[in-house]
Amino acid sequence: MKHLYRQLTWPEARDRAQSGAVIIIPVAAIEQHGFHLPIDVDNVLVEYVTEEAAQRSEGAILVAPMIHYGFNEHNMGFPGTITIRDTVFVDFCEDVARSFVRQGYDRIIFINGHGSNQMLCNLAARRINNTTSALCASAAHWALAKPAVDKLREATYPGGMAHGCEFETAMYLHIAPELVDMTKATPYETPSEMGQFVYDDLFGSGPVNLVNRWSRITETGIEGDPTLATAEKGKAFTECSIRNLIMFCREFRAYVTPPDRNFNHQVKTP
Ligand SMILES: [Zn+2]
Repeated sequence: MKHLYRQLTWPEARDRAQSGAVIIIPVAAIEQHGFHLPIDVDNVLVEYVTEEAAQRSEGAILVAPMIHYGFNEHNMGFPGTITIRDTVFVDFCEDVARSFVRQGYDRIIFINGHGSNQMLCNLAARRINNTTSALCASAAHWALAKPAVDKLREATYPGGMAHGCEFETAMYLHIAPELVDMTKATPYETPSEMGQFVYDDLFGSGPVNLVNRWSRITETGIEGDPTLATAEKGKAFTECSIRNLIMFCREFRAYVTPPDRNFNHQVKTP
């Protein structure tokens, strides 16, 4: 059964909506990832995880064409980066999801590969939930890999896994090793760390959110330690993420939405 939404004919798109397929909308970014990785990291990782999950789901999941660009203003001091304005991005994500709802799909999830997109994907999903009968969720692919990371992580916490780091480099080494130049990987750096309240890590940031312009605080562009990455770790992270994504989509499909209720005092109009 086809797992890529773009390859369906229109009658097939209608039939798959009726059969209850869960739609994954992959969301990524084009941005610098240090000296050792290409600028397409977020695209490559999120595409691999979502397409593999859909392919292995036996028809339960369809993966939509990816949203390649993300919200990246803080990284514009580095060549290679493309940014979409926050309001444009969230409207765009909402419109894509809403198009699926209008076709009859009622379970949609954004799977995101770029940290700064997350709050905007969450917001787009909530707009769908607040205005339609469908359910829309969102998650970062690395969050789904947490059990494997807990086992294999060597980078220090916090800051050792944040950007172009052990995690992202390991996954790229697993998916397309020929494009990674480990001789250029720079060791441990934690540019976002500022006192005890501000720090950044894929697996738990500080209690205070403060995202500075990246060029002010780093010369390499990375945050973390990519020298600890191996393809074996990458395979474990990737497979964990795929497994959990399939499992979530099955739970998501089975979840019965309780009906809307309105507990407000109803004013009678004459
Ligand atoms: Zn990245």
